[in-house]
Amino acid sequence: MFSMMEAARLEALHLAQDPATGLKAVIAIHNTRLGPALGGCRYLAYPDEQSAIRDAARLAQGMSYKAALAGIDHGGGKAVIIRPPHVANRAALFEAFGRFIETLGGHYITAMDSGTSSLDMDCIAQHTRHATSTTSEGDPSPHTALGVFAGIRATAQARLGSDDQEGLRIAIQGLGNVGYALAEELHAAGAELLVSDLDPGRVQLAVEQLGAHPIASEALLTTPCDILAPCGLGGVLNAQTVGQLRCAAVAGAANNQLASPEIADELEARGILYAPDYVLNAGGLIYVALRHRGEELAAITAHLAQISLRLTEIYAHAQADKRSPARVADSLAERLLYGP
Ligand code: NAD
Repeated sequence: MFSMMEAARLEALHLAQDPATGLKAVIAIHNTRLGPALGGCRYLAYPDEQSAIRDAARLAQGMSYKAALAGIDHGGGKAVIIRPPHVANRAALFEAFGRFIETLGGHYITAMDSGTSSLDMDCIAQHTRHATSTTSEGDPSPHTALGVFAGIRATAQARLGSDDQEGLRIAIQGLGNVGYALAEELHAAGAELLVSDLDPGRVQLAVEQLGAHPIASEALLTTPCDILAPCGLGGVLNAQTVGQLRCAAVAGAANNQLASPEIADELEARGILYAPDYVLNAGGLIYVALRHRGEELAAITAHLAQISLRLTEIYAHAQADKRSPARVADSLAERLLYGP
């Protein structure tokens, strides 16, 4: 356990269980140098307890990097609740989780994530004030989409010499909460949309409402386009797919798009500009953090603008150093997290 913590540079790992509700929860705190750890809570089934702990540790590390480059005063943390096969009272389970968070005295602040909803956050918030994305605070997805939209403009400027999205061919993989909102923004800006989703209903909606061209899921990554925007699952940029991409740049919302860090170098070698995912998709985190501390929407919108500025800065460094933007982003984040 300690070697895993050392490898992930994890500050702390907390476990809790509550037989009365079936709660089995892990909270991984990666780094609190810049502020208390903030990160979502997953509620998923895992093959075993080790996988749940590893997932929390890996995701907490990602949150530290994301928060550092988003310029918010938070560190990275993540919680995982192992979903039991049957749960008698979901609300009671999340309330028990709220009591667990409260014992950490504010070192970890939770948020909505895969498998959890704002209603779950409301249950948690009955026992701790360290819960965000409650029903009163709202869904962060539209703000993630706005950040990605601004980042796509910065990416188009850096790779194609103009941030005008009129006529730009953008392939979006995944039309969920973020992907669909992004498609709406891009459509309003005049982009030509090529879209896929495992749910044919989402694709149909985009065809009818946004004039999007439907693409079969298995063909989207190899479809010729200006910018590929992965907005579904992680790991889509891997040894199998990287040689087949036919785009000038990749800029999407999905977390952990690179199957391994080396894939970023392969993209660079192929002349494909890669927008580091955790820089581009930080809009949701920015919204959650600022909303929780009571900031007005205008202040949140102003902070979201930093995403494209940060990206532009990263692209300039990457070009000067002839390195992948992903490597540059990691170095910048590590300087903030571990530097002098
Ligand atoms: P979501 O579950 O609402 O949507 C994901 C969509 O992708 C679904 O409609 C699903 O059918 C589709 N999809 C999955 N695999 C696909 C494939 N192979 N081909 C085509 N479509 C596929 O999720 P979301 O909230 O929109 O988040 C999307 C991504 O962005 C995730 O990776 C998430 O971790 C990341 N992200 C989301 C937020 C946020 O605010 N919601 C913030 C940061 C990062």
